[in-house]
Amino acid sequence: MTALPAVPALAPKPARRVCLLGDNALLARDTALQLRAAGFDVAVATQVDQLAAQEGLCCIVVDPAGHGSRFADPACAAAIRARCAVPVPILWLAPLNKFEARLAAARAGVDGFLARPLEIDELKARIETLARRLDQPPCRVLVVASDAARHDGIDEALAQAGMEALRLHKPLDLVATLSRHHPDAIVIDVDTPACTGIDLAMLIRQDPAFLDLPVLVLSDDRDPATRRRAVAAGVDDFLAPPGARADLAVAVMLRVERSRALRSLIMRDGMTGLYNHVSIKEQLLREMARSKRDGSPLALAMVDLDFFKKINDTYGHPVGDQVIRAIAHLLQQRLRHGDLIGRYGGEEFAVIMPATTAAAAAQVLDGIRELFGTVAHKADETVFHATFSAGVADLDAAGGDPDPAALFRLADEALYDAKHGGRNRVALAHAAAGRG
Ligand code: GH3
Ligand code: MG
Ligand code: MG
Repeated sequence: MTALPAVPALAPKPARRVCLLGDNALLARDTALQLRAAGFDVAVATQVDQLAAQEGLCCIVVDPAGHGSRFADPACAAAIRARCAVPVPILWLAPLNKFEARLAAARAGVDGFLARPLEIDELKARIETLARRLDQPPCRVLVVASDAARHDGIDEALAQAGMEALRLHKPLDLVATLSRHHPDAIVIDVDTPACTGIDLAMLIRQDPAFLDLPVLVLSDDRDPATRRRAVAAGVDDFLAPPGARADLAVAVMLRVERSRALRSLIMRDGMTGLYNHVSIKEQLLREMARSKRDGSPLALAMVDLDFFKKINDTYGHPVGDQVIRAIAHLLQQRLRHGDLIGRYGGEEFAVIMPATTAAAAAQVLDGIRELFGTVAHKADETVFHATFSAGVADLDAAGGDPDPAALFRLADEALYDAKHGGRNRVALAHAAAGRG
C-alpha cells in the first residue's frame, strides 16, 4: 500500500435540511433524533404558519398524530405549499396504509407517501430521493417554431417558469441539435405544408435514443383525428398555441419531472438510491471523456465493506441491509455534489470524483472511513460497528489513454491491497506504467 500524502480535505455538502410538521411532539422528537443521528438538519414545527420562517428546506415531512389530527387529511398540502416561498417536496406519513389514504394523498398532490409504522431507513431514503429533485439543474427545453413571434412567446413562457429555452429555426438540424444538447423536453410549433409538428415527432421517435424525450406539439388543428394521429406518433401533449402560456409551462414541467423520475428509477438502485451498476459505469465513461477534453484529473474509488458475510451471519440479512444503507447514506452526505456514487455490487460501491487526484480522493475517503467506523449499528439489543476498505486510482495512475475497465481494474487492485493490508484502510493504486 502507498502511504497517503497530506492534502487538504474537500468540503462536504451541507446537511440536508428537513422540517417535521406534526402535532405529536413526542413522536416528532423521536423521529427528529433518528434523522439527526443520520446527519440531517431537522427542524420541528407544529403549525403550518411556522413554515414561513424555515429556509433551505429539502423536504417537509407531514406526520399526523392520528385520525383526529389537523394534518390527517393530506389536503393540508395546499396550505403548506402556500406558506413556502419556494416549492419544497412534501412527504406525508399516513397513520395507516390504506387505499383511501393513498388515494387522498395522490389527489392532494403530495410528493411522497409512507405509512406508519415507520422504517427509519425507508424514511431517510425517501427524503434523500425527494431532496435530489431539488438538486436537479433547471429544465432545458428545445423549442422549434416556424413563426418568430410565436417562438418568442414560447421562450418567454418557459423562461418565466424558470426553464431554459434553446432555439431552433430549421427542423433540418433537429436530430443533430438533440444529440448535441440533450434537452429535457422539446416543444414544436411547426405547421407548414412541407412539415408538421406530428411529422417531426415521428422523426424523433424513430431514433431509440429519444424514445423517452418528452415531446409537446402546439397546433391550431382541433380535429380529433389529428389528435389521434399525434398520440400514435408519440406526442406526449398536443396543445393549443401559446394563448394559454402558463398551461404550456406547466405541461412541460410535469412531463420533465415524470421523465426525470422514470430515468432515476432506471438508473438508481432501489435500496440505497445510488446509481446502479450499469449507470455508474456509463457515468465513468462520460466523466472520463470530459476529463480528457478539459485536461482535468479524475479519481475512481472502489469501496467494499469488511467481513460483511460475518455481519450477515451474526445479525441476519436485514441488519446487513441496514449497514449497506448506512454506508450509502454517509457517502452521499460526505462527498461533494459533483461526485458520483454507485452501488457496484452487493456491498461494494464505486465513487467517481471529477477534477480530483487519487491522493485527494483517498484523503476524503479516509475521513469517511474513520467516521463510518464510529457509526453504531443496532441489531435487537446489540450495538456493533462496521468498517470498509477502499482502493483509489486516477487517470494519471492509469497512464496514457485508459478505458473505464482499466481504471476499474486499477482501483480494484488497490482495494485488494487494502484488504490484504489488514482492511479498514484506503489504498492508492500504483502507477500502471511498466505493467504487462
Ligand atoms: P471482505 O472483508 O474480504 O470484503 O469480506 P466479506 O465478508 O465482506 O466478503 P465479500 O465482500 O465477498 O462479501 C460479500 C457478501 O455480501 C456476500 C453476500 O452474501 C453479501 N451481500 C451481497 N449483497 C447483499 C445485500 O444486498 N444485502 C445483504 N445483507 N448482504 C448482501
Ligand atoms: Mg466485503
Ligand atoms: Mg464484496
